[in-house]
Amino acid sequence: MTTFSPIHVIGGGLAGSEAAWQIAEAGVPVVLHEMRPIRMTDAHKTDGLAELVCSNSFRSDEWETNAVGLLHAEMRRMGSLILAAGDLHKLPAGGALAVDRDGFSAEVTERLAAHPLVTIAREEVAGLPPADWDSVIVATGPLTSPALSEAVRALTGEGELAFFDAIAPVMHLDSIDQTIVWRQSRYDKAGPGGTGADYLNCPMSKEEYEAFIDALLAGEKTSFKEWEASTPYFDGCLPVEVMAERGRDTLRFGPMKPVGLTDPRTGRRPYAVVQLRQDNAHGTLWNMVGFQTKLKHGEQARVFRMIPGLAEAEFARLGGLHRNTFLNSPKLLDGALRLKAAPWLRFAGQITGVEGYVESAAIGLLAGRFAAAERKGESLRPPPPTTALGALLSHITGGHLLDAGSASFQPMNINYGLLPPLETAPVAGAEGRKLKGKERGTEKKRLMSRRALSDLDAWLAQAAHASPVMAGLDPAIRGQTR
Ligand SMILES: Cc1cc2nc3c(=O)[nH]c(=O)nc-3n(C[C@H](O)[C@H](O)[C@H](O)COP(=O)(O)OP(=O)(O)OC[C@H]3O[C@@H](n4cnc5c(N)ncnc54)[C@H](O)[C@@H]3O)c2cc1C
Repeated sequence: MTTFSPIHVIGGGLAGSEAAWQIAEAGVPVVLHEMRPIRMTDAHKTDGLAELVCSNSFRSDEWETNAVGLLHAEMRRMGSLILAAGDLHKLPAGGALAVDRDGFSAEVTERLAAHPLVTIAREEVAGLPPADWDSVIVATGPLTSPALSEAVRALTGEGELAFFDAIAPVMHLDSIDQTIVWRQSRYDKAGPGGTGADYLNCPMSKEEYEAFIDALLAGEKTSFKEWEASTPYFDGCLPVEVMAERGRDTLRFGPMKPVGLTDPRTGRRPYAVVQLRQDNAHGTLWNMVGFQTKLKHGEQARVFRMIPGLAEAEFARLGGLHRNTFLNSPKLLDGALRLKAAPWLRFAGQITGVEGYVESAAIGLLAGRFAAAERKGESLRPPPPTTALGALLSHITGGHLLDAGSASFQPMNINYGLLPPLETAPVAGAEGRKLKGKERGTEKKRLMSRRALSDLDAWLAQAAHASPVMAGLDPAIRGQTR
């Protein structure tokens, strides 16, 4: 018989179901509070736990050269319920892991319901949890019910919980043509923490600008869902193509204005400029400033590769605008996903600023493990940043650059740019032959994936003999409860 008091998980989606499973498997009782079917969201259709609201794909299952495939592999090693149910209900989909959505959700629901340490409570938590819940994980997702999101906002402060995302594309530094772009901040201003050469600038001539505007206007767009269209967010962050529709020069006087910039190749100010800003502490990812967009993903790649310097750009994230609910996690959460201001409250899933079913479940897995370890008086170091799990965790709890401008923290999928670069880049393949462009990129991913699994195994072995220090946590809040 267990003597621990229960941990409460709010939200039985991808993250909450995984968190509850990890807690129960660690021998700690858990109450999973899910509001469906009593209160539905705008996107969910059933009362099943871990319902997939749109596509039925967990994306690539290839662990050696695909970052989400690597995340699958790591989660399998950690006894993930979401991956186990996905594997049992998989459908033919080439290299992707696609699942039968009903069978998958039923499997997750049945396994949790059958677990002796899991209680499922069908109720909305419509405000801050009661005072006797001393360890809580909030995993209520992009469509968190308004009463709870208002309570969270009151706790975190105005402006720290977003109700929509406005995502500009992010690309890998090594895919940008550095013979065309140059580093410079407008008027060489250093600002707080800058050097005066903080942006990468892509110059455009008049002809290039006109052709780009034509392509933006003609590009195929995705439409807002009916329930998204009423979200009043447009004027603050217009999609780039909507700005272009307002006048051919709107962008040239907006995010593409060339003022304060001199192209070293010509010694002159270009006609227009696309600026890229560093997105992560490693400096491997760069985002397109002001380029939030509703263009279809294929169209984004095609249109944005017209920009000088970006012809070969590899995108780590493409742009979008959606109804969403997410915290400014790098500022608010500690390394174990606890709210710094109220450490009895953890967050997991999309509400922490990750994007996608698998990433949400991955953060649920870690939140569940952290909460269970804490309840048992054990300590658990975060997984190393060289693993996909560790990289995702450190991106949302600190890896993203906080001072990169207002609302700069936007939801992110797992990608190799979040992992620390290799100490030495591969030049030759296994058979000793010199590697060329794309081959070198593939080999790099392969080496990073192998490093990840080997580091994960070492971390798991170490975690089995609980370490004395929760690395990276503020000692003042370590082990603190409500
Ligand atoms: C319309 C839409 C389409 C998407 N399509 C895709 C896609 O195709 N592929 C992809 O990878 N990702 C997609 N996403 C993102 C996807 O939602 C997340 O990746 C994932 O479901 C998030 O997992 P989560 O556990 O954080 O939230 P969810 O899976 O949404 O789970 C949150 C749960 O919390 C419950 N809840 C909310 N508030 C309360 C409350 N106050 N009390 C109790 N319960 C509550 C909800 O009912 C829900 O069951 C989509 C998102 C949306 C909104």
